[in-house]
This record gives sequence, C-alpha cells and structure tokens, in this order.
Amino acid sequence: MSEFKVIRSPMEALKKYFGFSGLREGQDQVVASIMEGRNVLVVMPTGGGKSLCYQLPSLCRDGVCLVVSPLIALMKDQVDALVARGIPATMINSSLSFPEQKERLEGMKRGAFKLVYVAPERFGHEGFMHALAEVDVNMVAVDEAHCLSQWGHDFRPDYLKLGKAVEMMGRPQVAALTATATPRVREDILKHLGLDDPVTIVRGFARENLHFRITACDTHKDKYKRLYELVKRYKTGIIYCSTRKKVEQVYEALSDFGLSVTAYHAGMTDEQREEAQNAFMNRHADIVIATNAFGMGIDRADVRFVAHFEIPGSVEAYYQEAGRAGRDGEEAYCELLFNHADLRTQEFFIEGVNPGIPLIVELYELLRKHCSAETHDVMWSLEEMVERLKCRNAMQVGAALSVLIRNGAISRHDVPGQRVKLTRVTDPSVSGLKIPLDEDALREKEVRDREKLKAMTEFAYSSGCRQQWILNYFGEEDGAPCGRCDQCLALGVEEGQSLGEEETLVVRQALSGIARASVRLADGSWQGRWGRTKIIQMLKGAKTQELLRTSLVRLSTYGILSRWSEDDIRQLFRAMQMAGLTRMSGEADRPLITLSPKGNEVMMGRKKASLVWPFARRGKISVSMEQARVRSTGNLAALGEFDEDLFLKLKELRNELAREAGIPAYAVFHNSTLEGLARLKPTTRRGAMNVHGIGEQKAARYLDDFLEVIAALWGVNLSFRFTPIRWTPSQERGVHAELRNYFS
Ligand code: ADP
Ligand code: ZN
Repeated sequence: MSEFKVIRSPMEALKKYFGFSGLREGQDQVVASIMEGRNVLVVMPTGGGKSLCYQLPSLCRDGVCLVVSPLIALMKDQVDALVARGIPATMINSSLSFPEQKERLEGMKRGAFKLVYVAPERFGHEGFMHALAEVDVNMVAVDEAHCLSQWGHDFRPDYLKLGKAVEMMGRPQVAALTATATPRVREDILKHLGLDDPVTIVRGFARENLHFRITACDTHKDKYKRLYELVKRYKTGIIYCSTRKKVEQVYEALSDFGLSVTAYHAGMTDEQREEAQNAFMNRHADIVIATNAFGMGIDRADVRFVAHFEIPGSVEAYYQEAGRAGRDGEEAYCELLFNHADLRTQEFFIEGVNPGIPLIVELYELLRKHCSAETHDVMWSLEEMVERLKCRNAMQVGAALSVLIRNGAISRHDVPGQRVKLTRVTDPSVSGLKIPLDEDALREKEVRDREKLKAMTEFAYSSGCRQQWILNYFGEEDGAPCGRCDQCLALGVEEGQSLGEEETLVVRQALSGIARASVRLADGSWQGRWGRTKIIQMLKGAKTQELLRTSLVRLSTYGILSRWSEDDIRQLFRAMQMAGLTRMSGEADRPLITLSPKGNEVMMGRKKASLVWPFARRGKISVSMEQARVRSTGNLAALGEFDEDLFLKLKELRNELAREAGIPAYAVFHNSTLEGLARLKPTTRRGAMNVHGIGEQKAARYLDDFLEVIAALWGVNLSFRFTPIRWTPSQERGVHAELRNYFS
C-alpha cells in the first residue's frame, strides 16, 4: 500500500476524500474539539454524521485511529466505503484467521492504515494488546458507546474491557460516539472510559417538522373524541397504547367507524403481527393501534400523526415512538392524551418487571421443594406459580423466573405436545439464600425505571416549549423554542426565539430585585422572604401605604421598572417562572418567590436567559408554517379545543366594548376571531396575534381586556398548564354522526 500523505486540515480532507461541501452543525464543533486534542463524547441521532467526526481528524495526523465497533457486518461496510474513497482502512475481528490478523497488525505497525476497525472483544486478548504496544495509535474512537452502559438498550459486556485497554495504551485521545442521549448513559460512558476533562457534545435531536401537543383528558370518552379528531384530520398514523387490552378496545372503537385500521401487540401470533405490519407498510391500513412492541424496523415515511393513548414509561420511549411521525420531513403531529390515572399502569409494569429479592427467593424455594427427586423438574404453568405464590402481579413471577434462568438457578424447556413448559431446578441442594443474585443491580434497575417514569411525568406536567423540554432532557441545552408545539402556539413563541439586549437587561433587573428581597444562604442558594405581588409593586415603585410600610422601598431596585405597568411585570414574572429562573417556596397560602440557581446565573450575566418574551415586539412577526396556515385558511380547529364558556364570555365583552364605542360588534372582533381565541386560549399578546383577525392596531386597542377574560378562566397555573377537552352536549352527539359521514 502506498504511503498516505497526512492532510493539513479537516476541511481539506472533507473536500478531497468525501466531496461534501461543508460540515454539519455539531460536526464542526466535534472536529474542532478533537483537533484541539480533547477527549469527546458525541451524542447525535442515527444518520447525524458521527463517523466523519473522527475520520477527518485522523486523516490530519500521523498514526492510526482505532475504531471500536460492535457489529462485524457494519464494520465491513464502513471499511469498504473508506477504501472506495481511497482511504487506507481495514478491520480486525474474530472473522479473520490468525495469520490474517497478524498481517494486519504488522501493517498497522508500518503505518499502512489510517483507520482500523476493531471488535471490542479483541481488547481482552493479551496478544492483541501486546502487538498494539508497537503501533502508533493517534486516537481511539468508540462507536455505539452506549454499549458500555447497562442503562442503555444494548449493553455489551465486551465494551467494559475498553476502559482498561485505554489505560494500558497510555491514555490516547478518545472519542466516544452514540445516538443514545439519556443523561445516565452518558454518565456511564464517561465513567467507564475514565476520560480526562471530556467535552460532551449533544446535537441534532430536534425534529423541525414535528408538532408536539399534550392534551389532558379527564375521561376515556375525552380520549376517544380527541382521537377521532386526530384520525379525521391527519388520516395516517400510529396510536400507541400501554396494554394489549387497550389496543383491542381502541381497535374496536375505531373499526366500528369503518376506518382501515389494524392492531399490533405481542400477544398476537407471529403471522398476525406480520400481517398487521404488512397492511400498514403496504397502505392497506393507514392507522395502526399498537403497544410499544410495534415500530422496530418500521419505516413508513408518511406517518402524519403519532398519538399516545396513554403515557409511556420514559421520555426515551416517548420520543422514539413519537419520532416515527414525519420521517418524510413533512409536517406531522405528536399528541399525548394524558390522564394522571394512567401512571398506575406504568407503575404496575415497573412492579412487574422488578419482582424484588424476596419473591425471587420464594419462587426458587417453592420450585426446589416441589421438584421431582430424580429429574429436578416441575410441570407448572405460570398461572399455577402465581396462584401458589399468591402474587397479585403475574408479571412479577415471569420476571422472577427470568432472573433465576439468567443466573443459572433454573432452566426452562419446551416439552413436545405440552403447552406448559418444564421448569428444572439446577441443583436443589442449593438453598434460596445461596443462589447468586446481584441484589445491587436488581435494585438499581428498579430505581432507574422509576426515575424514567418520573421524568416522563414531569414532561407531561411541564410548561413551556415541548421540544425544548425534550432536548434539555437529552442534554442539548441550547435548544431553542420550536414555535410549533401547543405551548409555543398559545404563548406566541417564535421558533428559535432568543432575547435581545434590552430584554435581557429587563430580565436581569427583575431578577436582581427578587434577589435583593431574598436571603442568600451559605451554600449560595436563595431563600424567599416576600410574595410575588409585593416584589412586583417594589419593582414598579408603587406608593401604596402597605408597601411604604415595608423595607422593600429602601432597596436600590425600588422603582427600577417604573416605566412598566404592574400587569406587564406580572406577565414577565410568569415567563421567568416558566423558564425556571425563579422558584416558589414557603407555605401554600403564602408563597414566597426567590431565584433558582439558573436565575442566579442569568442575573450574574453568566448564562443567557432563554425565556418566552411575553410581549408583542415591533416589526413583522414571523409565523411558523402551521401558524401561517391557520392564519390564512382560518383552520380554527388546528388552534385547539373549543371552550364554549370562554367563547360566550369573550362575546359578552366584545359586545360591551362595541356598545361603548358606538360601533358594530364585528368592528371589534369577528365571531371567528373570538372562536380562535376560545380555542387557542393565549396568555400573551403575541400568542393572541396568531389568531386570524387580530392586527397590531386591534391588539393595542382591545386585546388586553380579552386576555384578562382568558386568564381568569385559563390563567396559567405555573406547574400545570394544559388544554383539556370540554365539549358541549351537541358536540357530543355530533361527533359520531360527523365521523360516519366523513369516512363514508
Ligand atoms: P451516524 O454514524 O451518525 O449514524 P453517518 O456517519 O453514517 O451517521 O452519516 C450518515 C450519512 O450522512 C452518511 O451517508 C454520510 O455520508 C452523510 N454525511 C455525514 N456528514 C455529512 C456532511 N457534512 N455533508 C454531507 N453528508 C454527510
Ligand atoms: Zn415549542
């Protein structure tokens, strides 16, 4: 092989070998960090372009880059692709004969390769490690690095050898790469590899065409109604349910309406499942109702909506499932139908898959006591074991069996002609207290499952941009509001909105006012002393007798926002609370406000405030595609659920304003505009301006009065903000008839 000439810069390598015009956002940052010599952890979704991140830098230096990769098949593709581009690359794994391996190792020593793909188990071979000592390794790239973590979905024990191998190689630079973005997995990767001062770069998880929405549903009926709406409007989609039973119920409900639906869950036979999958893929059915068993390997690109009929068990699962919408890049809708009571199902699952040590031991003892003396066999069905153990959750017994099988205490076998499996105790002389159970690991798994559900619940109750929340969860911290989700729409947030200098200053002034009215504790955190209203009055510089009697008027921030109305300051406070800059404490009936750690950072100017600016800005307001459509076509239903009470109140106000001004009612707002408001329920001027028929002038003249009415009914409860469904009786009756017409 001819001598490879080192390239001067990554950009030059990109042009020369790959022919791409530039690096993607995120790739540039990773390449720069690697070029600086930093250890990096790269988290990007599949297809994000992780390979280039280490390939380019390795072409710019002497020596060879070892790429750890778990699958031999993928390895070969990668190597072939590189060789086809003229880059000297090869691979070493167990599929090679010993002489072949040896030859390639020799080649590495000579510097004949720039990139060598290596299977992780090689690092456990002394001979291999020994040979490596003579190789100039310029970097170790650990692909699919989540295989290191038991918290990931694809744990591979061989990967655990890497930490030690890196140590033995004298700590070369390491780039770890994965598409699994959960914080715990990332922690594990860094811990196991023992990386010195690593940079973590998370990029590319936002989905620009997805519209997220969480709809609170008090009853099942609410859910069905909402589901009908979604089906009717978007036509092609996946509906996820948490249980098989629910899949069947929803399936029946929807097929009653003559929809081309299909169902999919693990309780069906292989053939049934394949048939369902094919029906969906081949477009014989446009809607599939499924448990989380559905989706692996499904890639129908034109899925227009994904609905979660019930809350799933983790944000990871939620985002993966919701992410099956809109693969074609066209607009798509993801809606979670949330009812707090559904959490019970998830908790039941967690209990089910985490049987606990006592039950595992009890089951083992039961089997040991009842197994036959010669063969050590028991012929019990799962139901029978459940019965004998008097266990409430049958899943637990199944899970306990799995644990016992995994650690070799028992084995299970099919018996020809028998439905029931045979259970064999490996050695009945071993007591239940002696079987090797990894108690810590079992306990940790349960904690982990609960934490995941907790995060998912927090998401369901969160306020602020849905997409941003998810990105934050995955560690993509500078993700901006999406401008498309239910929250962004109601708040009038534009895509990628960030604060200007002047706005940032106002936020910092307000925060410093709150700080001065708080107590700084020894650990640097803040404790509130005053309620929100008092502090707002202080910032305004109010002169009420009550305020004048307090020490607040002596603060340097007294009147610092005097040019603002108290109402506006109140709106600003709401936005700051939503952005997590402030925190409430104290008794429920006398809440005190103070700074959160994030608020402290923003006040000090160390962190940028990213919050929803609750006031209309001068100039043109850009609108997202969906919003633009809403405005031009007046597709009111897209704005949200209709609240008739609110509509009537708004109408009353409109008529009164018109009477006062002596103008016709429609000159204030059209009925359709009022309907838009009664659906979107905006809390800010900017939000309201997404409704057709509200321009700058009318906004300035009338809008605040209307917002007040909306706030009275729909005021932002800071920890809980939703769009529950409320239907009028006539709508109730109408929905079935309407649906039938629609699809007939
Ligand atoms: P990942 O490993 O993150 O799943 P890959 O590295 O396999 O992703 O890249 C996915 C695809 O994107 C590949 O076809 C690759 O050639 C292409 N790609 C990566 N970076 C760029 C770029 N900067 N410009 C154009 N195409 C790119
Ligand atoms: Zn959003």
